[in-house]
Amino acid sequence: MLVNGICNKGGKTGLIFFPAFDWAISPTHPEREERLLYTRDQIFEEGLMDLPQIEEYKPRLAESKDIARTHFCVPDVESQVTEAHLIAAGSTLTLADAWERGEIRNGFALVRPPGHHSMRVVHGNRGFCNINNIAILVEYLRSRYGHKRLAVIDTDVHHGDGTQEIFWHDPDVLCISFHQDGHTLYPGSGFVNEIGGPQALARTLNIPLPPGTTDEGIHYVLDNLILPVLKDFQPELILNSAGQDNHYTDPLANMRFSANGYAQLNEKLAPDICVLEGGYAVESALPYVNTGIIQAMAGLDYSHVREPDYVPGSFVQSDAMWREIKKTVEQVNEAWAEREEMVQMALEGLGDFYRRKKRIFYDTDMINESQEESVRLCPDCPGYMTISSSAQRGHGILNNAFCVSIPRGACSSCREDASEEYEEQLENRRIGYVYLQDKDRDRFKFCNNMTRTQKGY
Ligand SMILES: [Zn+2]
Ligand SMILES: [Zn+2]
Repeated sequence: MLVNGICNKGGKTGLIFFPAFDWAISPTHPEREERLLYTRDQIFEEGLMDLPQIEEYKPRLAESKDIARTHFCVPDVESQVTEAHLIAAGSTLTLADAWERGEIRNGFALVRPPGHHSMRVVHGNRGFCNINNIAILVEYLRSRYGHKRLAVIDTDVHHGDGTQEIFWHDPDVLCISFHQDGHTLYPGSGFVNEIGGPQALARTLNIPLPPGTTDEGIHYVLDNLILPVLKDFQPELILNSAGQDNHYTDPLANMRFSANGYAQLNEKLAPDICVLEGGYAVESALPYVNTGIIQAMAGLDYSHVREPDYVPGSFVQSDAMWREIKKTVEQVNEAWAEREEMVQMALEGLGDFYRRKKRIFYDTDMINESQEESVRLCPDCPGYMTISSSAQRGHGILNNAFCVSIPRGACSSCREDASEEYEEQLENRRIGYVYLQDKDRDRFKFCNNMTRTQKGY
């Protein structure tokens, strides 16, 4: 509720800026530090940083343990991340701490490099991402503060495939991503039928949208699908992978979303913590989108936020686009409504283990990974998971890894079996690296089988 243009809900909006000056894929690559410089200028020009509703926080480095809680980095965390990655991830944790202390009612980590294409096993960079900032935040909120049910809403134009993969089997993390249809854009996934593993069906929801979708189309999805699902799910926190490349001027995609549309989306979604993902229209979109989002988060009037070249009414969706969007919303709503029955049916048809094979391509580093994933379907607990992973660059094997993950709340029998699998693979000379993630004890260890050295976080 607005009183004199100021939201009467207490608490401040926490902001962290980290443009990562020394990290770029290459000097001319779209993922470079200018992404945040114009934004910073605009925000200072608007005087936002001087407002009593806004509090700027200094970023901190995430610890290796924070990364190992979410990822299996091959060969180790230190070889997959730079200081910039640790600061980007650490910024989200700083905001989480401020939120938990009650200092802020919400926060926005304006950081790079982004993270949402990074999956559980990390052999290199894919889609500009090495480690998944928002997934690291989820695991931190759980281990440090005991949260269980969390929602991640991905509003980047690209499918949040990494976040989806990390929480695929987790019924307590709702992952919703809307994005430009994967038939027309990287990473080529995020279709309606991707809804999660057998124990967590419809806790992953994907809303592929036709190129050219406007403010109206995206708000239709928000009002008729995302907000009602969130109301049902009742997460303890709403986290937003706040990509800004749905903007009509973005050079990497083809949508028609505006800065004001983004601000309104933020107001309706009311996320507790936002983490910047992509957005590559450095001058024409990002300064306006970010100003709008920050004002919406702080409960300020954002109605004046407009790009200089924006002409109201100039973007119109065709009837065919409307039909496609409405049909997609209907299909995803159906999956959500039937989630309990679907899980029951899926589990009846499976034995003690669920297995799937998948291939993952790292476009930035030109690595091909093949994985076999296995989840113990335990009647007493969420079951443990193993991943056998082999990565190739060109024709040569890069690394082989075997990863074991013991989830929170694992029963003693799953815990024992998982530890045994880890020990067994220490003798397997064909596997280079073996990992054990123990989430209840917050202990993470790995062994280099070639040098027989073990390390732990
Ligand atoms: Zn993106
Ligand atoms: Zn069990």
